[in-house]
This record gives sequence, structure tokens and C-alpha cells, in this order.
Amino acid sequence: MAYFDNNSTTPPYREVIDAIKNAHENNWANPSSPHRAGAQVRASLENAREEFAHSFGVSPAHLIFTSGATEANNSIIGWVANQQFCSGKIAMVSSIEHPSVIEPINHVFSSRVVELPINKDGLVEVDNAVELIKAKRPGFVSVLAAHNETGVLQPWLKISQLCKELGIWFHCDATQWCGKLSLAGFDQCSSFSFSAHKFGGPKGVGGLFSKESIRWLHGGGQEMESRGGTENFPSIEGMRIAWKQTEEKISSQRSMEDERNNFERLIKDLLPEVCIIGENVPRLWNTSFLVLPQFENLGWLNKLDRMGHSLSTGSACSTARRESSGLAKAIGLSPAQARRLVRVSSWFDTKKSDWDELIESLAKVFNELRDDQKRSGLISLP
Ligand code: PMP
Repeated sequence: MAYFDNNSTTPPYREVIDAIKNAHENNWANPSSPHRAGAQVRASLENAREEFAHSFGVSPAHLIFTSGATEANNSIIGWVANQQFCSGKIAMVSSIEHPSVIEPINHVFSSRVVELPINKDGLVEVDNAVELIKAKRPGFVSVLAAHNETGVLQPWLKISQLCKELGIWFHCDATQWCGKLSLAGFDQCSSFSFSAHKFGGPKGVGGLFSKESIRWLHGGGQEMESRGGTENFPSIEGMRIAWKQTEEKISSQRSMEDERNNFERLIKDLLPEVCIIGENVPRLWNTSFLVLPQFENLGWLNKLDRMGHSLSTGSACSTARRESSGLAKAIGLSPAQARRLVRVSSWFDTKKSDWDELIESLAKVFNELRDDQKRSGLISLP
């Protein structure tokens, strides 16, 4: 099976599965317990925290393990909104943020939300954003690092540095960046979130860095009083091992990008009117977000799936809700174009032969869809 839906989730590394199993078998004691078995888990847990903090260049005392990026994003937004420094102030956010950012912001800031402008490539317009932030002096700004659908890399570092100068809290959802590119610069953010299952780790575990101590789950005082509840050490250990594996692979991304670019050249030969969103701006090396020239995306995906290729229409979250994502609207796609969106996202284990087979299958599916159309006598409107 050639799996091309890695922005939705990545397969766990074999070493991760082994580490989780080992932790469940041998390191299952409660890290808060006052005995040697508990102390051993506590030491391993703190070791994982230190390794992550070191990779991000931040203090381990401010890195909290969570159930993933959704919890991390919701928690920081809920906390920030109640702080004195945000009182009566607006929040500025890009309209292409993940729902786990945009929905809590709309919920807690309500009418005090201002959107940062996006261009046709799905990129936050940095000069306009800088002007807006300087003029409006928000209490909180949130810009994601890499977009989950387009892979477009956002100007989060420049905006975080400006916010730092102006004393504005800047949050970055680093979920899609973390595991694919270098982590340099995240120490400039007031807070950021990440998720293990986007880099070969288990689902349901991730982290939040916050430069100030925050508290959201009241209970047993775990996670430096931020998040009560017995820590999920087996998953945290699985995430640590996934990160170690991934860190080593990040240096090989050059050839991975070449393979993706080659795929894009071939799809343009096959379907000359295909549009690749964000083609001319910096993108993640693994992502192609296509507006196919003909036939609805689910028709393509069902046939491709039967041929053994798993692709997606875009964000798994918006697919579950059956509504088009904020991105399609933000970059001005028509509803018909939004129904022709297909996302191809590879991973370190994607081989050149997987790309070759995908192109061959796309050609076959295109012919089949044309034949189906002729048989049904229907005309596909652009
Ligand atoms: N932010 C982004 C950019 C994402 O792609 C995702 C996962 N689709 C999330 C947040 C949510 O992550 P999690 O599944 O860990 O809650």
C-alpha cells in the first residue's frame, strides 16, 4: 500500500511500538509513587522532557506533555484570554489556522477577533500583518508554522519576533512543522504546540511550551501543576523515540523534496490544467495540494484507494465534518474548485517507486472517470 496521507497521521516507527510495549510491560508504575519503580518512571519521564526541551532550545520547566496539539492549543488560548495583559484587547489570527486554534479563539475572544490577511498562495501576508499588529496592538497573536493542507510555510518567526519586541503574546501551532524541518526559532515564541503522531509517534500525545506557568487541568498537581492526571508515560516514551528517529532523518529531506517536485512535473504533463496551491512559495517538502481540473475529489480518491493509494481531500478534520476548509475560502476557491481538492503528503518512508505508481494510477483513474462520464452521458461542469 502506498500511503500518501501523512499530514493526517504518520505510521508509527517499529522502534516506537517496541518502546511503548516495553514501557507497558516494564515501566508501568505511577511516576508520582514513592517507591523505586515509580521513581524509575519519573526519571525516564523527566529525561524525555529534557530531551524535547533541548531540541526546542527551551527550558524543560516550561514544557508540558499533553494529549496532543488540540489540547495544547485549546489550553493556551483559554489561559491567555483570562490574563490581565489580554483584558479588553483583540486577538489576531490567520483565517487558515487549524480548527483547534480558530474555534477556541472565536469562543473566548468572541467579537474581539481580527483576521490576518492571506494571499492566493495560502500565505499570511507578512507586511500587512506587521502593519496591522503595530496599528492595533492585540493582546494575542496566533500563526501556525506550516499549513496542514497546503504545506505552505508561514512567516511565524518574523511575526513572533515583532510580537516579542511589542510585548504581545505569540502562539505558534507547530504541529506540521515539527518532524519535518529544523526547530530553530521556536524559542522566540511565547508558546507553541506539537503532536507525536505527525512524526511517527503514537496518537493522543504531544506537548505545549509556554514561557509562563499555566494551569488548566486541576487535580493531582502533575506536569508542574499545569495538567493534573497521571502521566501517560508509555506514549511519552514512544514520542521520545519517534523524535529521535525523525531528527536523524530530517537532514535527508533534500532528495525527498526532489521526488515530490518530480511528481508535480509529471502530474502537470498528465493534467496540464492542474493547479498546485502554494507552488511558488516555500512549502513543506512532503506536500502537494492540488486542484484537479476535472471530476470531484471523492471520485478520484475512491478509485485510487481501490488501487492501493491512500490520499485525502485536505484536512481530516474538515472531511469528518463534510464542510470545505477555511483555507479554500481564504484563498478564494469556488465551491466547485474546493470539491476538486486533493492532498498528497509523503513521509520519510515514501519510496520513488511509490510516487511512480501513484502517477500511473492517476492516469488510469483519469481514463476511468472519463469513461464513466461518457457512459452516464453527463457533462462535468468546471
Ligand atoms: N494543528 C495542526 C496544524 C494539525 O494538522 C493538527 C492535526 N490534524 C492539529 C493541530 C491537531 O493535532 P492532534 O491530532 O494532536 O490533536
